[in-house]
Amino acid sequence: MADMRAYVKKVLADVVKKDPDQKEFHNTAKEVLTSIIPVLEAHPEYKDEKLLERFVEPERIVIFRVPWVDDKGELQVNRGFRVQMSSAIGPYKGGLRFHPSVNLSILKFLALEQVLKNSLSGLPIGGGKGGSDFDPKGKSDNEVMRFCQSFMTELYRHIGADVDVPAGDIGVGGREVGYLYGQYKRITRLYEGVLTGKGLTFGGSLARTEATGYGLLYFTQNILNDAGIDIKDKIVAVSGAGNVATYAIEKAQQLGAKVVTCSDSNGFIYDKDGIDLDLVKDIKEVRRARIKEYVKKRKSAEYHEGCTGVWNVKCDIALPCATQNELTLDSAKELVKNGVKVVCEGANMPSTLDAIEYFQKNKVYFGPAKASNAGGVSVSALEMSQNSERLSWTFEEVDNYLKRIMDDIYKKVTSACEEYGAKGNLLAGANMAGFTKVANAMHCQGWV
Ligand code: NDP
Repeated sequence: MADMRAYVKKVLADVVKKDPDQKEFHNTAKEVLTSIIPVLEAHPEYKDEKLLERFVEPERIVIFRVPWVDDKGELQVNRGFRVQMSSAIGPYKGGLRFHPSVNLSILKFLALEQVLKNSLSGLPIGGGKGGSDFDPKGKSDNEVMRFCQSFMTELYRHIGADVDVPAGDIGVGGREVGYLYGQYKRITRLYEGVLTGKGLTFGGSLARTEATGYGLLYFTQNILNDAGIDIKDKIVAVSGAGNVATYAIEKAQQLGAKVVTCSDSNGFIYDKDGIDLDLVKDIKEVRRARIKEYVKKRKSAEYHEGCTGVWNVKCDIALPCATQNELTLDSAKELVKNGVKVVCEGANMPSTLDAIEYFQKNKVYFGPAKASNAGGVSVSALEMSQNSERLSWTFEEVDNYLKRIMDDIYKKVTSACEEYGAKGNLLAGANMAGFTKVANAMHCQGWV
């Protein structure tokens, strides 16, 4: 054991030494590598093959200039990225994020998480992530289109249906995927499944829009079943009001829970009568407005500035669905004080490491993002299958498949917990189960 601990310590020290500013990536690498020590113990050959050193080093990173012209005729310049982390078990797959905070550290952390998540999905997809520091907020449709066309004018060289298949993430929804796809097709003349999350008239899959949020609830239900808790009438706090949050709220409501919050990056809504989801969709999806508008139409609701207050609301189940590091130790203490029983992550790495430790110490059931939000990428892989066979499956077919995948991920994670003596620690289970498949593929493919 000491030997493998020392090995992990050395690899982590090298990660920090190579890129001292990449804090988000350091955190993820630490979280993942320290929890897979039991797998390394069972496979001492991985150390000799420098498998961990290769696992934390992206296969390829592309960084490029994205010049575009705004509505005033002024030239703007953004930076574009694609991190191709691992193709051990399939073509690179992972979303594109357009947000001013985007940098290499964030994309590398997301890409590493994606490798494990895609492995857990059981589907043949490797891991990647990309995006730009471009902010679509406040831009006209034409500006967003020009940006997407310029972005794809470089990205197209590095992707392909059997090479790398990007999708949406924060700031990249159906509109952006449509513009990106149009430009890819125009340049390459290929009508292929190179992006997922496409519109339904040009190769998109039914239930892809709903997949991450619905999948989160299917995973949460597995936790609740094992804990003997019925979701009916439980109070649920959700953060965010984007794609993941919206469809998490929808499925939670369908299952009989009462969701009382949602938020955006300015503030949060508390609606004691339960969130009116049609109103949220109208504000965020149709009008692209701020969530603050909600209280103009609903007397039962309050709006509060700032996002962290969402975790001070009394609830049984908390579903962070906005962004990374949005749920800190202080928020975790508030949630525990107010009796939270289950925290299940919809966003990527929304809980800080000390918050997760606090939940575990206080016997709160915790569902880690790489397992609980894998529904989105899983249905993306199903979209790739439908594109390859040039068929469209029904909503029910895709939704049933999604549910099976989420149930299966839960089984894999809990089995790894049992096998390696980490019962109840689903984060460790997800890391060990996800890593096992990728490591085996890397081992079999030689020193590449
Ligand atoms: P969207 O852009 O649709 O929505 C993001 C939501 O989070 C918005 O309500 C946004 O508010 C809010 N938000 C963004 N930044 C912050 C911040 N710093 N503080 C508080 N709130 C913030 O993105 P998605 O719903 O697609 O993604 C949300 C999370 O889920 C991300 O972590 C993403 O990586 C993850 N994820 C997404 C998948 C998908 O299929 N879409 C799949 C798996 C994971 P505002 O409008 O003010 O920016």
